[in-house]
Amino acid sequence: MKLLEERILRDGKVYAGDVLKVDRFLNHQIDVEFLCELGKEFHRLFGNCGVNKILTVEASGIGVACLTAQYFHCPVVFAKKSKTSNIGAELWAAQAHSYTHGTDNTLVVSKEYLGKTDRVLILDDFLANGCAANAMLSLCEQAGAKVVGVGTVIEKAYQKGGDGLRAHGVRVEALARIAAMSPTDGIRFCD
Ligand code: 5GP
Repeated sequence: MKLLEERILRDGKVYAGDVLKVDRFLNHQIDVEFLCELGKEFHRLFGNCGVNKILTVEASGIGVACLTAQYFHCPVVFAKKSKTSNIGAELWAAQAHSYTHGTDNTLVVSKEYLGKTDRVLILDDFLANGCAANAMLSLCEQAGAKVVGVGTVIEKAYQKGGDGLRAHGVRVEALARIAAMSPTDGIRFCD
């Protein structure tokens, strides 16, 4: 998505450790009108898939998930991060390693909000090694929910997450795909 690539080049900052900061519009300050444009694009891509729920993970996926959900007219469920593995029987739970914090979390969703009748679009801000997306896929599998695909605002395509999911037959759509980035050379997008 050209508009997004231009915005990333304008506002993004590349840090050591393969971290891109887009705090100006996505991860700290939220440009609501701009995220609505991203939401419309997700709806263009997945609008005919019968989505009745969007699943994301707290906290950074929630903004874009909510602004996307208005075009699908469906609720957003965000998986909560729990430090404890002492999970109750009323929750679906899956392990995920946090890319940015380096910690291991258990992602949990109440069984009340994810079940067999759901057709789920998994959404997140970034796709890197695929830990968060795989954990959300596991939550859906446990719940018996159908996943129509994974949408991400930014895929770092040189990391293994996106292609790993595609190799397993999961539809993955990224609004911007980064081929390479570094603090010195900047950002290069995939063709
Ligand atoms: P993964 O689980 O695919 O390895 O990483 C995706 C998650 O880590 C996303 O939920 C996102 O919050 C965070 N993340 C991964 N890479 C980046 C990055 O370069 N910048 C930011 N801001 N977050 C990232």
